[in-house]
Amino acid sequence: MARLVLKFGGTSVADIDRIRNVAEHVKREVVAGNEVAVILSAMAGKTNELVEWCSQAAALHDAREYDSVVASGEIVTVGLLAIMLQSMGVNARSWQGWQIPIRTDGNHGAARIKDIDGSRLVERLQAGQVAVVAGFQGIGPDNRVTTLGRGGSDTSAVAVAAAVNADRCDIYTDVDGVYTSDPRIVEHAHRLDKISYEEMLEMASLGAKVLQTRSVELAMVRRVPVLVRSSFDDPHAPQPALDGPFGGPGTLVCDEDEIVEQHIVSGIAYSKDEAKITLRRVADKPGVAATVFGPLAAANINVDMIVQNVSEDGSTTDLTFTVPVADFERAEKVIEEARDKIGYADMAGSTGVVKVSVIGIGMRSHAGVAAQMFSALAERGINIQLISTSEIKISVLIDAAYTELAVRTLHSVYGLDR
Ligand code: ADP
Ligand code: ASP
Ligand code: MG
Repeated sequence: MARLVLKFGGTSVADIDRIRNVAEHVKREVVAGNEVAVILSAMAGKTNELVEWCSQAAALHDAREYDSVVASGEIVTVGLLAIMLQSMGVNARSWQGWQIPIRTDGNHGAARIKDIDGSRLVERLQAGQVAVVAGFQGIGPDNRVTTLGRGGSDTSAVAVAAAVNADRCDIYTDVDGVYTSDPRIVEHAHRLDKISYEEMLEMASLGAKVLQTRSVELAMVRRVPVLVRSSFDDPHAPQPALDGPFGGPGTLVCDEDEIVEQHIVSGIAYSKDEAKITLRRVADKPGVAATVFGPLAAANINVDMIVQNVSEDGSTTDLTFTVPVADFERAEKVIEEARDKIGYADMAGSTGVVKVSVIGIGMRSHAGVAAQMFSALAERGINIQLISTSEIKISVLIDAAYTELAVRTLHSVYGLDR
């Protein structure tokens, strides 16, 4: 017997038939003698529709009211699953975030979970009741509903798993695990049996949206084993034992030590969520970086990649950096407003860029991974605009037109093709 948290994403609960399929997965685990909590997303497309409705109501709207609208998608699916489980003879009850409660900070639209009181859930689980919990939502310090940012149900699931001390958190989605790259664009991508928390964290934050970044961070800190698997697998298929050697379906996100066969590079990710800004002929004096990045930080704009070059005239520098696409126009405005303080000749911005990243724990102990990446891209005539690195990843910013070519090339160069 084990205590499991099962999370089902939007495609897995897209309509009544799919929710019935989810109920079959849940029932299988209950019949096997496990205690089960379920976290659900809204039906596929629902959250987008709700977000759009808020914009149509007013382009600029109160974030508290946005949250009360967009949190509603998950309220529908949890109620429906509870009804279905009951009709199948499974004892079940739905829970909204505030009922547990899942306490968050007050950052509406992108709130962070502060604390979950798991005691009431645990009582119900021990009494044999399935708890069906609305993902993506919580309750803020002002007692109003908050949401955790897009894709946030993954984080709800890991946080609940940590709060009830679950043996494992299963993330059911529309792919059968974590792949070496996005299977939608890399035909030869293959499923990984296991991936370390650290690599998964880099993959997620560098664009692989299969798990929300925050959920991986939380799983790593709270040591929650996460299994990413498909909800389209036969719900009645026999399941591998929890304590045996792992040979089951999906991808296990776990500690590095649990992975016997380590590769130098585990995956390639890409993100079109960045935009590039270049300031030409900035006065080359101490403190100039602070005059540029200070106002951006004050405006809550995250700067990612940065490069500084000596300008053609030799006495000034050019400064290029990236910001989230969503903040691009705001960032340009902030810089323009600080123009006198910074002192630059002109500013150029572009959104037609993509960040492509190579990720692997093996990079810590192997030289030459970056050189291989740069020459492979050069051979295909792909110009690198910016580079950033960490211990276990290398990212480059390139023209978005080359996204597929770059990702597929690197996938093959590092021997990841199936
Ligand atoms: P859900 O609605 O279940 O949360 P998501 O759409 O958020 O599902 O995440 C699953 C999707 O993530 C897949 O359909 C896949 O296209 C995409 N994805 C991107 N990178 C990867 C990767 N490396 N491995 C698996 N899936 C990936
Ligand atoms: N329904 C929310 C979204 O679409 C949360 C989630 O699916 O994880 O972002
Ligand atoms: Mg998701």
